Amino acid sequence: MKQGNLVLYKGHTFSKHCTTRAGTTRWKCSRQVRRRLQFIRCDNGKNLVMCDNHTFFRHRQMKTGGTRWKCCRHTSRKCGAYVIVTDDGVVLRKKLEHTHEPLSYRMMEDGNYLRTVVYINLK
Ligand SMILES: [Zn+2]
Repeated sequence: MKQGNLVLYKGHTFSKHCTTRAGTTRWKCSRQVRRRLQFIRCDNGKNLVMCDNHTFFRHRQMKTGGTRWKCCRHTSRKCGAYVIVTDDGVVLRKKLEHTHEPLSYRMMEDGNYLRTVVYINLK
């Protein structure tokens, strides 16, 4: 799967389908992608995995196959959540208990990626 080319809308992921004559982009639901997990591209260009509004950054490649992704708040919140996913989005192992609230995301105007905007529990 090509990373960064999915958008999330009302809990469904959409892949780029075509560009219309009006110049807008048509997106179609990508059912082959697991509903609860998306590969997204952050505004800083980093590829992340998002699951239940939590994001994970690439940790390491597993010898047994798949890539291990650690919660982005691994250091700041000592969060031990992780997922091990194959390149086509199949979850091999996961631990999704977080020590913190999820973040908030929104789609960018160009529709190409999602971006962190605010922390829900910002104090
Ligand atoms: Zn976490």
